[in-house]
Amino acid sequence: MTSDQSDDSLHIFDDLAHGIEDKELASGKPWHILIVDDDPGVHNATVFAMQDIRIDGRPLHFLHAHSGQEALELVRNDDDIAVAILDVVMENESAGLDLVRNIRRDLGRSEMRIILRTGQPGYAPEMRVIREYDINDYKTKSELTRVRLLTTLTTAVRSYDQLRTIIIGRHGLKSIVDAAPVLFSNRDVAGFAAAAVSSAEKILGRTSADIALCAHRASYGSHLDQPPYYVIGACNGYARHLGRPLNDLGNAAALVERAVAVRQNEVAGKDAAFFIASTESAPAVLLVSTEAGLTPAEEQLLAVYCVNIGVGLENAGLIADLSFSAYSDRLTRLPNRVGYVARVDDHLRSGERGWTMALIDIDHFSELNDALGHQKGDQLLLSVAQRLSASLLPKMTLARVGGDVFGLLGPDDALDPVQLMDHFRRPFSVGEYSLPIQATIGLTRLDEASGSDGIDLLKATNIALNRAKSGDRGRWHYYTTDMATATRSRLDLLHELRLAVEHQRGLELHYQPQIELVSGRVIGAEALIRWRDSDGNFIRPDLFISLAEYSGLIVDLGAWVFETAVNELRHWDSAGLSGVRMAINVSLVQFRDPQFLPRLRAALDRTGIAPDRIELEITESVAMLDAETVITILTELKTMGIQIAIDDFGTGFSSLAYLHRLPIDRLKIDRAFVRDLGSTRASGASIAQTVISLGQSLGLSIIAEGIETDEQAQLLMNLGCPLAQGFLYSKPVDSATFISWWKARQPT
Ligand code: C2E
Ligand code: MG
Ligand code: MG
Repeated sequence: MTSDQSDDSLHIFDDLAHGIEDKELASGKPWHILIVDDDPGVHNATVFAMQDIRIDGRPLHFLHAHSGQEALELVRNDDDIAVAILDVVMENESAGLDLVRNIRRDLGRSEMRIILRTGQPGYAPEMRVIREYDINDYKTKSELTRVRLLTTLTTAVRSYDQLRTIIIGRHGLKSIVDAAPVLFSNRDVAGFAAAAVSSAEKILGRTSADIALCAHRASYGSHLDQPPYYVIGACNGYARHLGRPLNDLGNAAALVERAVAVRQNEVAGKDAAFFIASTESAPAVLLVSTEAGLTPAEEQLLAVYCVNIGVGLENAGLIADLSFSAYSDRLTRLPNRVGYVARVDDHLRSGERGWTMALIDIDHFSELNDALGHQKGDQLLLSVAQRLSASLLPKMTLARVGGDVFGLLGPDDALDPVQLMDHFRRPFSVGEYSLPIQATIGLTRLDEASGSDGIDLLKATNIALNRAKSGDRGRWHYYTTDMATATRSRLDLLHELRLAVEHQRGLELHYQPQIELVSGRVIGAEALIRWRDSDGNFIRPDLFISLAEYSGLIVDLGAWVFETAVNELRHWDSAGLSGVRMAINVSLVQFRDPQFLPRLRAALDRTGIAPDRIELEITESVAMLDAETVITILTELKTMGIQIAIDDFGTGFSSLAYLHRLPIDRLKIDRAFVRDLGSTRASGASIAQTVISLGQSLGLSIIAEGIETDEQAQLLMNLGCPLAQGFLYSKPVDSATFISWWKARQPT
């Protein structure tokens, strides 16, 4: 072929190129082939020779450069060039090899295949260069007949395709791994959705894809009847549909619906819909639309990725749910105690003066509750909440601080106790009943209280409420600083507790069995402390544990508990209770004690008890300590082989954000959620379910506490909860009783 053919074939090239572009849309995207040669004839001849050629069903698209410099520019702007066929000698003798070096070293394009060709056989590069720059083929121009060129090109294109798949795969898998913590740390669904979409974009490694995450409304918190699908995350071309219903997406909406219907990924031309299995009721779909469709490798990666998203989306929904339950009361949907304290803190920060907080306690609520049943009790609380909230100014807060205690926060004159009492003059109607209800009120004028934060002020108001309840001066009472002396009795109690710990007097451990639900087998026991005061009365741990924590006494008390529990395990071993595990409550305050770990180790060494038979239960209120300290100590415990459970899970919130960073084994569902199981109140069941699936997705085991009925046990088992503890099996009992209980349960 000579250069005088060039003009004709140039026209042919133009036509051909257009033809290819049209076909490209019809059937698969073309391979980009770069021809670099300073001789225009070579360009034309190559294109001519390759016209109508398809490699693996895909057409060819040629890019043309006439110098190394020009070629470099083209390569820079096109990241999908499969093969470069280039001349060795162009503007200078080394232009070709320089270009190769630039492509490989500077642009880092290792997957592009390179075929060198030269008219002068003497310019063949050395083997060393060929190897170093990964040059795939070297041909003299005369060698390259049409057939040779085709085979050479086919081999090169295929090898490019394979390399590309590997590189996309490696890069994509890395992006999937990198995406996990980002996705997981998003607590709200919107944040999660945005992160999910941008991670998908990163996985594809191109910015031209339009991506939308479509989800059922139910999966992000609102439980409306038969709600439609929505776009909850979107980028590029789909960005303007964010927050819009699915049918906003036009044709692609049908594909998304089909994916939901068949619960599978669906591809149609340039659109791909990846089905994301979330909770059974609310799946989601990641819609990815690209100019020329996805490659099989990209499709596979996104499919893997979407399996991950399912877990994350679920968690974001769960966490939003839990976050609601942490700050709000499910029954009245008012702020709960935590929410109330937060509002008081907010108010304190605002610096506005002249405000009061009030606690309103409904008299004899528990008797009413018992007499009329829980459902009526709930209705009564709702009507009290309604009446109180109707009287509020917009800037005031009403909260449900406890079972039958409401909290109010507002300007002094809006919280006048006489007016508040007026709300209780008329009876409350509950179903067929009309109930005359009285209330008792404790109030604190924030300007007059010494408390510096919401919790202190709540305590102060509580003291006022208790004073009002003791009833010597009417049904309400304002907090005064001299009431602080009333806390004397706490000090007395503390004094007595100090003596008890010092002399190990009146302290006992009781044990409550833990059961494997499916088999009914006893797998362990939780050690619970009991304290008898000097009169021989049991004092509830709820009363003195917080006192011990507050005073630091918990360090010695906790050490005694651990020591006693481990000794007891050894005793049980010799009594024939094989392999029973012991769960021991530890307060995070104990973590501050530098002797904590050494003491644990010493007790285990001395008794020879295997560390994996010990489980430490810590409560969620890790806010007391900084995350790093907690993580360091937990990691240390874990290395020792000790198991760790989060107690009363679901009632606190602080640790959720970094739950996945904590080396823990088990979540213990709080008994408040178990109590509501099977009752008309669905929230308990949904929280229990939430905790179980959260645990499952984090690879944690679950135990439920406070099981009192067979129905609760059955429901929990159905929800996939493996372990349980509660009065249904046994109350906490002393060691001797535990041993005989255990033996009585053994199959004979
Ligand atoms: P916890 O660790 O959540 O312990 C479970 C509590 O639930 C125990 O109360 C137990 O008697 C009670 N319980 C168990 N099953 C049922 C049931 O079916 N229904 C009902 N209504 N209650 C059930 P207890 O013994 O009064 O302990 C209260 C809390 O005091 C414990 O809650 C724990 O946080 C703390 N505590 C107890 N012993 C220790 C200890 O040695 N060290 C520390 N730091 N805290 C302890
Ligand atoms: Mg516990
Ligand atoms: Mg608990």
